[in-house]
Amino acid sequence: MTSLHLERARDDFDRRRPIDVNAVEAAAQKLLMTLGVDLDDETLQETPGRMARAYIELLTPEPFTATTFPNDGEYDELVLARSIPFASLCEHHVLPFVGVAHVGYVPGDRIIGLSKLARAVEHCARGLQVQERLTVEIADWLEDTLAPEGVGVMLEAEHLCISMRGARTTGSRTVTSRLTGKLREEPATRAEFFARCAD
Ligand code: ZN
Repeated sequence: MTSLHLERARDDFDRRRPIDVNAVEAAAQKLLMTLGVDLDDETLQETPGRMARAYIELLTPEPFTATTFPNDGEYDELVLARSIPFASLCEHHVLPFVGVAHVGYVPGDRIIGLSKLARAVEHCARGLQVQERLTVEIADWLEDTLAPEGVGVMLEAEHLCISMRGARTTGSRTVTSRLTGKLREEPATRAEFFARCAD
């Protein structure tokens, strides 16, 4: 199954295709040169190519199939995959923000392979993002894929555009969350989600 967001991400990607690696490399070379970097230096000669390949990788979501299973055991408590590491690029500065995602849901008729939750986070993180939208996209993906009783997504991340420049507050983390269904509406379930994220 795919969600609207995944389809949209793929559509966006398709529209951009084909990415011309050589053109990206030439642009990287020009950017570095205009910033005063001496690319004649032997150790830097391959840098524009490496830079191009790195950005292409970071901006290209990898398609995957979300395997779901019937909820035969009628499990109806919170399922939580905690501290899934992720890295994305902020769309304002094209600098990384790096952190962990806690992704949970209360199952309805179907459950999902737990490794797919990490794949979904990874998929949504590939591209230019803001943390708020990334949080919502992961939650929407779970909603669309599983139609569960509720979804909870919480992201904690350090933004290098804050740590490395401007305010330079190293180590400060931004926390965002998105709750739906039972996790949003039932105070006890909501409290359980946040408590278990913090364990
Ligand atoms: Zn930024």
